[in-house]
Amino acid sequence: MVVGEVAVETDVVVIGGGPGGYAAAIRLGQLGKAVVLIEKDALGGVCLNRGCIPSKALIHTANEFHKLPTLRKMGIAVGDKKATIDLGQWQGWKQQIVHQLSSGVAHLCEKNGVTVVKGEATFLSDNRIGVETGGDFETYKFEKAIIATGSRPLIPSFLQIDGTYILDSTAALELTEVPSTLTIVGGGYIGIEMGMAFAKLGTDVTIIEMGEQILPQLASHQAKEVARQAKKMGMTIKPSTKVEKAEIKNGKVQIEVTSEQKGTEHIESEKVLVTIGRRPNTENIGLDQAGVSIDERGLIHVDEQCRTNVPHIFAIGDVTPGVALAHRASKQGIVAAEVIGGIASAVDSPYIPYVIFSDPQVAGVGLTEAEAKQQGYTVKTGKFPFKANGRALATNETDGFAEVIVDADTHLLLGMHVVSSDASNLIGEGVLALELAARVEDVAMSIHPHPTLTEGWLEAAEAALGHAIHIINK
Ligand code: FAD
Repeated sequence: MVVGEVAVETDVVVIGGGPGGYAAAIRLGQLGKAVVLIEKDALGGVCLNRGCIPSKALIHTANEFHKLPTLRKMGIAVGDKKATIDLGQWQGWKQQIVHQLSSGVAHLCEKNGVTVVKGEATFLSDNRIGVETGGDFETYKFEKAIIATGSRPLIPSFLQIDGTYILDSTAALELTEVPSTLTIVGGGYIGIEMGMAFAKLGTDVTIIEMGEQILPQLASHQAKEVARQAKKMGMTIKPSTKVEKAEIKNGKVQIEVTSEQKGTEHIESEKVLVTIGRRPNTENIGLDQAGVSIDERGLIHVDEQCRTNVPHIFAIGDVTPGVALAHRASKQGIVAAEVIGGIASAVDSPYIPYVIFSDPQVAGVGLTEAEAKQQGYTVKTGKFPFKANGRALATNETDGFAEVIVDADTHLLLGMHVVSSDASNLIGEGVLALELAARVEDVAMSIHPHPTLTEGWLEAAEAALGHAIHIINK
């Protein structure tokens, strides 16, 4: 490969090797395109290295640790000594998982003919890109480009991350000791997931949320289930509360918060974790030189085929408006690759599931009851509580419910939502049902295996039709 002043010619460059970028590059390789994937850090992006996977490894560990005392009632002797957790050792385990996944992505890229370049990319024009590789500067001339540079934590100026006292999610996932006290600014899904994990490991956790409820994107009856469990774990939740300033004093962080109800309060903790949102990485990649427009939040608007305002330049994942989730980034990546490969592909499904790995977990797809009513549907709903499900009882995880939202006129399913210990896996059925335009009868008449949590869907669908077996029908 010739580098330096002579530009290397390629069909496509993909900037960013996260779940959007690497999926796009692999699909392009499958379609026979010459593709260069440029990643400045580690393959797998935020998701594999400092997001989805490390956070779920932490949550899993915390769940196992937290479960130990409950095992006694099942006849398991766990000894009299209190269990301990070594977060330093946990880091090694986490790193091994991350390494395995990141190496797997590298292997898949290689086998699909993707050229991976380690370096920081900047557009030089609408058909050239420069890559700083740490010493060298390489130039690539491309026919098409995909921007997949992802996002980073949004941090207010008065809460600057120092990695010791004030942390972002990346720093929190690198802790080698469990903090005794932790204040989390932002009760969205990242704050709640991490807060519950640390609470289970023994941290005294306070959550400050500006909105009226934690997990503001959820229907209130879903968020209440999580809030109830959080309180049971000893977490303090302060809704409708705003953080005004933070100060490090005597080795602790003091934050000042205000709320209408309580006025000004001061909270002291060993660490503060800031999880108020994310911002797209679109500032320093030469979008001006390429002519690609961004909005006031720095997001790149795209059409159904992921094309930007410059038709041969595509954008996918967290740099585009919409929910910032890995599975959406991957879907967009595959669509952009297929469009470039000449396939009629589009991101045309409204059914992007959400999952929150709280306790209990929350997941859903399609409309909530309120949204369906707002859109003018006459709505029928069916709900089944897991405390009436044999498998939930047998695994000691009875919190939550499965809920179906149905168009009363056509019986088409409009939404499926679930709060449960295993909502993240259960929602797969919901995605498929909505994607296949199932009617509520399709779920009610399908034989669901017993004893499983999936029977929650069966009974919720039956409840919507007025004939659930294991609850009294209203
Ligand atoms: P990213 O994953 O952000 O990848 C972008 C890549 O581009 C990075 O590797 C970066 O180094 C690289 N890059 C940036 N600029 C350049 C440049 N100029 N040159 C070269 N390379 C560059 N989502 C879920 O779906 N489920 C979850 O459970 C979940 N949990 C999360 C937990 C946490 C703590 C966090 C922070 C996020 C979580 N997410 C989750 C969100 C998910 O990680 C993101 O939505 C996803 O990673 C976005 O993918 P992406 O490909 O758009 O970008």
